[in-house]
Amino acid sequence: MSTQRCDGCDRRVRLGGGIGDFWSFETGSTDGLTLELADGSEYFLCYDCIDALPDDEEVTRAHVEALPDASDDD
Ligand SMILES: [Zn+2]
Repeated sequence: MSTQRCDGCDRRVRLGGGIGDFWSFETGSTDGLTLELADGSEYFLCYDCIDALPDDEEVTRAHVEALPDASDDD
């Protein structure tokens, strides 16, 4: 078990399987995944942040940077 910092809220997120295995969350214990955005950049986000992203438009870096930062609960 390892953790990775969410690029949206800056919290530590539990990681189960390999980062490259996007869809392992269906069976496993990973609390986030790596998203490739429309502009080609990649971010690791927890599910809370993914839920906060719009699903009716292309997600860009600006959306990720606009996510609330929860690092002060660390
Ligand atoms: Zn997050």
